[in-house]
Amino acid sequence: MRVRFLGTGTSHGVPVLGCTCAVCTSRDSRDSRFRSSVLVRGRGGERVLIDAGPEFRLQALAAGLDRLDAVLITHAHADHVHGLDDVRPLCKHAPLPVYASGPDRDELAERFSYAFRSGQEGGGKPRLDLRVIPDEGIRIGKLDILPVPLLHGERLTFGYRVGCMSYLTDCSAIPPASMPLLAGTHTLVLDALRRRPHPTHFSLDQAFEAARAIQPTRLYLTHICHDLAHEEIQEACDQACLPFPAAPAYDGLEFECP
Ligand SMILES: [Zn+2]
Ligand SMILES: [Zn+2]
Ligand SMILES: [Zn+2]
Repeated sequence: MRVRFLGTGTSHGVPVLGCTCAVCTSRDSRDSRFRSSVLVRGRGGERVLIDAGPEFRLQALAAGLDRLDAVLITHAHADHVHGLDDVRPLCKHAPLPVYASGPDRDELAERFSYAFRSGQEGGGKPRLDLRVIPDEGIRIGKLDILPVPLLHGERLTFGYRVGCMSYLTDCSAIPPASMPLLAGTHTLVLDALRRRPHPTHFSLDQAFEAARAIQPTRLYLTHICHDLAHEEIQEACDQACLPFPAAPAYDGLEFECP
């Protein structure tokens, strides 16, 4: 399968509105970050989106996305779901399955309540088929997808394991019970907000520590804020002397996962 980073930034995005710091004014295109999201393209033609942030439409245009089989929601924070209305052209013919935890499913039903009321017919509403993702996971085409419970501060969120790729954004801890779900991960994508500790996100060092415990074949960092430039994060990855290659992700980066 092939995975594309649609966005790799924290909730503000980078550049941050009104900020003139070195990263927000950087000429390196890898320092411009839309809100975090990935697109998974399976070998059987499957198209699965993880999160739909506020820039979803722009991200989908850049990726040449013309259809979707499902959306997986990590949690209902605005930076992960407020692009859901823009799936409208992709669900004209059938409702689009959107998977989330039970509480996040309820929150989405409330947030997008207009989509489930009568009126505004004729393409004005996304046809969302909100579903609670079962603990045992789901299969979409030939893709096996498993929810991975995570802690985002005190809030429960889901990471997702799709085949041998584990996408763990917005987390400050991985519960011990989730570790067996990550065994054998080839490509690990991990939240790494900044160098300083944060109450609801992994710092760089915490991300490295978690990655060492998971032992993937390769590590990408995401959900990055404007504290660090791409080059600085790469230097930190190199200095961490991890037993596998590690790099900051950037918008538009694509990788193959067996
Ligand atoms: Zn977030
Ligand atoms: Zn800035
Ligand atoms: Zn969040």
